[in-house]
Amino acid sequence: MYINGLHVESDSKEMIEVINPATNKVIASVPKGGASEAKKAVDAAHAAFKAWSSKTANERSLYLMKWFQLIDEHKEELGRIMTEEQGKPLKEAIGEINYANSFISWYAEEGKRIYGETIPASHPNKRILVQKQPVGVIAAITPWNFPAAMITRKVGPALAAGCTAVVKPASQTPLTALRLAELAGEAGIPDGVINVVTGNARAIGDAWLEDPRVRKITFTGSTEIGKLLMKGAADTVKKISLELGGHAPFIVMDDADLDKAIEGVIGSKFRNAGQTCICTNRIYVHESIVDQFNEKFQSAVNNLKVGNGIEEGIDVGPLIDENALEKVEEHVNDALDKGAKLIQGGKRTSTGGGYYFEPTIISSVTDEMMCMHEETFGPLAPVTTFKTEEEVIERANHSQYGLAAYVFTENIGRAIRISEQLEYGIVGLNDGLPSVAQAPFGGFKESGLGREGGHYGIDEYVEVKYISIAF
Ligand code: ADP
Repeated sequence: MYINGLHVESDSKEMIEVINPATNKVIASVPKGGASEAKKAVDAAHAAFKAWSSKTANERSLYLMKWFQLIDEHKEELGRIMTEEQGKPLKEAIGEINYANSFISWYAEEGKRIYGETIPASHPNKRILVQKQPVGVIAAITPWNFPAAMITRKVGPALAAGCTAVVKPASQTPLTALRLAELAGEAGIPDGVINVVTGNARAIGDAWLEDPRVRKITFTGSTEIGKLLMKGAADTVKKISLELGGHAPFIVMDDADLDKAIEGVIGSKFRNAGQTCICTNRIYVHESIVDQFNEKFQSAVNNLKVGNGIEEGIDVGPLIDENALEKVEEHVNDALDKGAKLIQGGKRTSTGGGYYFEPTIISSVTDEMMCMHEETFGPLAPVTTFKTEEEVIERANHSQYGLAAYVFTENIGRAIRISEQLEYGIVGLNDGLPSVAQAPFGGFKESGLGREGGHYGIDEYVEVKYISIAF
C-alpha cells in the first residue's frame, strides 16, 4: 500500500493475489488492508491537508504538471501493468493512460479558476463575498475496468482544489493505482496528499464512511454498492458523487450514415471487451435498414481479433474473471431461449487459459430478454428493430439507468429532438466515444450523482462559503 509516502504492509501481513485474466496466472500480490490501514491513510491525508490546501492554486498546478509529465514518460510501463492485471489490449491500455493523464493536466489548469463571486448587498454597509474552499479529505473507491482513469478523474480535481485523498482501487487492479501513487511521490507531491489502501473493500469503505474527517466519498462501480455508500454517508453527512451502472441504448435511424454507425457501435460495444459503464447494451435499428446493418456489423465484428492484449494486433482481450464470463453466457442463453437469432460468436474461447468470450451479435431481440434491461458488461451486442421515432425514444428511456445513449442520424431536426428527449446524462450523437476530460460525465436516475470532468467536476470537491461583511 502507499500511505504517507511510504510503501506499507497490512498489520495482518495477509495478501491478495492479482491475477492476469489473459492467462489466469498470479502476477503479484498486494496487502490485504482493512479498517486499521484505512484509518492510517486518513490520518496521513488529514495531517497533509493543512499545508496542501494552503498552497496557491498555481503551486498545486506545478506539482500536478510534474506528475502528468512522469505519467507520460512511463505510459508504456503503466500500460503494460494495466494490460497484465486488467486484460485490455496494450494499445487501449496506453490509450487509457493518456486519457487518465488528461484529467491531471486539465485540472492542473482548472484549479486556477475556482472563482468566487461578489453579490450586491441589500444593506448599504454590507458586502457579500462568496468563495470556494476544498472540502477536506476525500475518499475515492474505484473499479477495475479503468484502473487509471477512474482514479485520476477523482484525484485530479480533488488535488487541484486543495483536497487530500485516500484511494481504494479494485482488488483485481491495484497495481496501476500503486504505480500512479508512487509517481505522484516522485513528482514531489507531499507525503499524505495521496494514499492508496488495498484490501478488504467492505472494511475499508466502512472505516471511511464512519470517519468524520472524510468529507467526501467519490465512487465508481456498481449501483448496488453505490446505494450502500450513499446510505453509509448519511451518518456523517458527507458529500457524495456516484458513477454507477448504465444500460446504453444505441439508436440507428433510417437516415443514418451506416458506416459511421458501425464504427461507432464497434468502439462503444467492444472497447474493453464490453466492460465499460457507457458501453452499448441495446442496439435499436430502424426496421427498414436492419438487414443491411446486420450484414455490415457482422463483417466488422468478424474482423476483431481476440486474444492476450499484450500481443500485437489484438482488438478484444479477456473478461476480468469467471463471473464475468458466466454473466455473458447467461445473457446469451436467455436471449436464444426466448427466440433471439445468433448472428456471430456466442461462446467462450479457450485461448491460453484466459477468460475469453467471442464478440457476439444476436438479432430479433425483444424487450423482455435479460440483456435488454440488465448490464451485460461483456462483448454481447443485441440488435432489435423499431418503426417510429416516438417508439424508440420511449423504449430507450425505459430503464432505471440513465448514463449514456447513442443516436446515429443525418437529420439535424431529428438529432436535436431525440437528444433532448433521451433521459441520459451523456448523448453520443453520431459519436460512439464521447468521454473527454473537459466534458461533464455522469448519469441521470440510478446511474449516479454528480459529474466528473469539465468545470463541473471540480465543484464536487469544494464547499461554498459566504462571507457577510458589515462595516
Ligand atoms: P464491480 O462490479 O465493478 O466490481 P463493485 O461496486 O463491486 O463493482 O466494485 C467497485 C469498487 O467498490 C471496488 O473497489 C470494490 O472493491 C469496492 N467495494 C465493493 N464492495 C464495497 C463495500 N461494501 N464498501 C466499499 N467499497 C466496496
